[in-house]
Amino acid sequence: MHDCIFCKIIKGDIPSTTVYEDSEVKAFLDISQGTPGHTLVVPKKHIADIFEYDAQFAAVVFSRIPKIARAIKASDPAIKGMNIINNNGAIAYQSVFHSHIHLIPRYSADDDFK
Ligand code: 5GP
Ligand code: ZN
Repeated sequence: MHDCIFCKIIKGDIPSTTVYEDSEVKAFLDISQGTPGHTLVVPKKHIADIFEYDAQFAAVVFSRIPKIARAIKASDPAIKGMNIINNNGAIAYQSVFHSHIHLIPRYSADDDFK
């Protein structure tokens, strides 16, 4: 048994605000919003980081990104762009060791959110 906060969110044992969900991934708002709408796309299968992906699993998980990114962008006309970030390893600032992809909306005046 591992103690993984994102597995608990996926199971519903810890609450989160769902942005998108299907059989393979769940996307939910980051608890610490870099900008409003900051979302994490998380594979439902526990996998630590990109070094554990094979090509097929990467294709499944990353194929969801454009659709989720468009949905977030469509949710607010003030969103003008988006940073997509995936940290792998503590040295690369990964702090939750269940792989996830950050979708961080960017706004024309997002100096306000720094
Ligand atoms: P990392 O630093 O691993 O790339 O990103 C982990 C992210 O998970 C951080 O941005 C952090 O705010 C977020 N996070 C950590 N714990 C929770 C939680 O319990 N709920 C949610 N929604 N996000 C979390
Ligand atoms: Zn996990």
